[in-house]
Amino acid sequence: MRFVMTILFFMAPVIAEETIPWEKEFEIAAKTAKEQDKPILLFFKPPAFLDNKTTKELETGALSDQKVVTLVKDKIIATVVALNTPQDAVQKFNKYNISADSVPQLSFLISSGQEVRELRHSGKNIAADELIKKLNELININTKIIWESNLEDAMKHAKEQVKPVVVITTKKDDKESATFLTDLDTYRHQIYPLKNDFIWYKQENSKLTIEFTNPYTGTKKGAKPANKMDQFKADLQFYFNSFKKDHLSSKFVCTKCNKTKDKEGKCCNQKLIKIRAFICEKCGNASAKEKECCKEKMKPKIEN
Ligand SMILES: [Zn+2]
Ligand SMILES: [Zn+2]
Repeated sequence: MRFVMTILFFMAPVIAEETIPWEKEFEIAAKTAKEQDKPILLFFKPPAFLDNKTTKELETGALSDQKVVTLVKDKIIATVVALNTPQDAVQKFNKYNISADSVPQLSFLISSGQEVRELRHSGKNIAADELIKKLNELININTKIIWESNLEDAMKHAKEQVKPVVVITTKKDDKESATFLTDLDTYRHQIYPLKNDFIWYKQENSKLTIEFTNPYTGTKKGAKPANKMDQFKADLQFYFNSFKKDHLSSKFVCTKCNKTKDKEGKCCNQKLIKIRAFICEKCGNASAKEKECCKEKMKPKIEN
């Protein structure tokens, strides 16, 4: 006769601290990031035998913070590279500019593997809040361009949000068109946050052309066929500045007494709110200046 012994384990009521799931192979992390369209947190560490104080502070501080851990687990691919000799840094990860002085270093990459240079953090500790800010910024930058499904919607949303429209015309099986769209996707962080200042519409028709449209006047302006991202960025910036001059306000408003002010501050015991533009409630026109339209005073639209 056999007895089945049942052993009961009584678990101690300990809440386990969660940790960041660090991928040790950079290539695997890069592949997963592409597949899942997630950005990458790349952590360069000095070799363990150096017993580096800053690295320990980072690991036990911000990188163990439960809010950071949750955010990374949900939305980011984390990978760690322990640099064993200075040679490692020079060869494989040369482009991340690592040196004995810069590690520990946190580098932030969009899903395509492109680094967002402005977010890089080297050689010192970081507060959890600051890291969360950087990670959220990275998630934002990684967000793909949202293409409107038709031109009517693009114009409608552009008016509602007081943004100009960028219309990109491409041709099927055209090499120039394909290259531009790939570059736009790969290097999208270069045009962030400008990317969010426009409404995007893409159509297939003729060879690659880029056109900016003012949704209020219907005025169109062509840009150079951008085969370089920096050229395209300059064109976006130039067009946005002229749109801003006509349509975007730099004023503030008190939502209690409706008075507008030139500078940030308080009124009626509350903080003034930034105005995006003055809107005509009759025709939907937007203006940088407070003026009359359709025989009525334009109303401030609050920045959201
Ligand atoms: Zn007031
Ligand atoms: Zn009007």
